[in-house]
Amino acid sequence: MRTIVEQGHTFEEWLTPEMIYRDVKQVAECINRDYKDKEPLFLVVLNGAFVFAADLMRALDNDIHCEVTFIRVSSYWGMATTGKLEFIVPLQQTVQDRDVIIVEDIVDTVLTIHQLKAHLRAQGASSVTVATMLFKPDKLEYDDAKPDYIGHEITNEFVVGYGLDFDGFVRNLDAVYKVKE
Ligand code: 5GP
Repeated sequence: MRTIVEQGHTFEEWLTPEMIYRDVKQVAECINRDYKDKEPLFLVVLNGAFVFAADLMRALDNDIHCEVTFIRVSSYWGMATTGKLEFIVPLQQTVQDRDVIIVEDIVDTVLTIHQLKAHLRAQGASSVTVATMLFKPDKLEYDDAKPDYIGHEITNEFVVGYGLDFDGFVRNLDAVYKVKE
């Protein structure tokens, strides 16, 4: 099993690139089925979701007629959530009458999703769903925020890699690693 050390913490490989590939494929198949006759707007939550989003986009059927836009929010620092959502890169595109699919790296306390969904609905989106690579169901705090498309459900552990950072680093790891301590 591969391990890495980042800022004194040891992380071990948890989801291999092969497992991630299968998870992404399965999410893409569900979106292909549900959005066949629609024109979704993918709203990618930076920074962490960029890796999953890039893989997901390429796993979709070519005839899914869609747009992609980006937003950046912050509600996490180190290993503990601050519980506050801050818009760092605001919405650049109108969502009025659009079928929006929020693309997340991980849904944890679901605070981010809960607040984003409310925001998008207030802006007139016709529908809002959530596609996330990882989901920690143990910490579900808002019923409306359970993701619609989930790559992998994981237990409540701090993970890095495949876009997920540790204070900005290790996003480039090709697998998902979990903290060993
Ligand atoms: P929320 O708690 O609002 O669902 O998650 C907000 C953000 O916290 C996620 O988009 C992600 O960037 C970050 N986050 C949550 N859990 C983890 C984790 O286990 N590892 C890392 N690196 N980031 C996390």
